[in-house]
Amino acid sequence: MQQPPNVHDAEAIPEAARAEIDALLQSGDLFRYTAPENAPVTLLEQEFAELLGSKYALAVSSCSAALFLSLKALDLPRDARVLIPGFTFAAVPSSVVHADCVPVLCEVGENYRIDIADFTARLDQDIQAVIISHMRGHTSDMDAIMALCEARGIPVIEDAAHSLGTTWNGRNIGTIGRVGCFSFQSYKMVNAGEGGILITDDADLAARAVIMSGAYEHNWQKHITCDGEGRGALSAAFTKWQNQLPLYNLRLSNLSAAVIRPQLPELARRVKDGLRNHDYVADLLNASPNFHVPAPLAPEKRAPDSIQFNLVGMDAAQIRAFSEASAAAGVKVQIFGLSTDNARAFWNWRFLQDLPELPQTRAMLMQACDVRLPVRLSQNELDVIAEILLTAVDTSMGREAA
Ligand SMILES: *Cc1c(COP(=O)(O)O)cnc(C)c1O
Repeated sequence: MQQPPNVHDAEAIPEAARAEIDALLQSGDLFRYTAPENAPVTLLEQEFAELLGSKYALAVSSCSAALFLSLKALDLPRDARVLIPGFTFAAVPSSVVHADCVPVLCEVGENYRIDIADFTARLDQDIQAVIISHMRGHTSDMDAIMALCEARGIPVIEDAAHSLGTTWNGRNIGTIGRVGCFSFQSYKMVNAGEGGILITDDADLAARAVIMSGAYEHNWQKHITCDGEGRGALSAAFTKWQNQLPLYNLRLSNLSAAVIRPQLPELARRVKDGLRNHDYVADLLNASPNFHVPAPLAPEKRAPDSIQFNLVGMDAAQIRAFSEASAAAGVKVQIFGLSTDNARAFWNWRFLQDLPELPQTRAMLMQACDVRLPVRLSQNELDVIAEILLTAVDTSMGREAA
């Protein structure tokens, strides 16, 4: 059998980044607010807002920072209850705690998406905001969620950290809720090592987030780059919030923006390759009676750079044997609920008070596998990964490998 591919490295950063980075190193102009206009961070914000089709964008130091600022920008009272899925990255409940709010967890189904019945039941328990985490890019039923939240006047923050390029009914994920947050951390579709961005059409929310991100004094003027009615609304909001808000200094550096900008034109191709690779491997895995790759919801067009699948009809010893056999063959399968201290298993979020039990989410996490599939992999490399997984499951089930 061939060697398994390296699944940790991302694609090379486009060559075009080099000239811009050289210029920045020459000038030393790394701070977004030094240049009078057209700083790389500002250009990134304009390009990203246009790409996604939203009025305003604010680039920050991480998606976690974007989530935190979104909550602060909503002006929620202290201890406001924020509904989040029980399957997400620990950064999400952390951002809620950081914003002096209280996370309330809801159940997630075996297809990794929010359980709408449980979500609905909890929504009426004094919830003041909702964060929908499109975990690993799996989109929950946004039609149902938006109808439920709009009927109650509850704002929705989309954690689209890992969903850049995903669409729902043809609409970009991150533009459906009041605000959408994305990550530029290395394991996401656009890689700057670290970084994040939030997008919104709400001028008041945008102005508050910009100021709190660290646009001190009159630096907010450098954020007024859009035309039309969006411009006037934003200016008025900045005037209103001048000196009224704390500064958390979560800005992005020009160097990061220089790494991100030339990747945006690559996004459509990465999304296409990622989906093709994912669906190719999904078909191979679904041929085993012990693997099940949940289908996307009908309105959803995914942009995956990893694959998740459930183990079916296997006991704890067989699951362990499968995990060991695939690791020995060189493919690391993360079973969310089994790996020690996993940051996506809610019972490890011990910084939360009154950590709830979520039986359905726990059952899913105990059999849900996660394998990285960077979009640059070739079909041959995908075949090697799938074959290792299929052989490992056959071995663990005591079957002769096919
Ligand atoms: C990566 C990720 C985050 C955190 O993003 P950072 O930029 O590292 O802060 C939050 N939510 C989800 C679903 C993620 O995948």
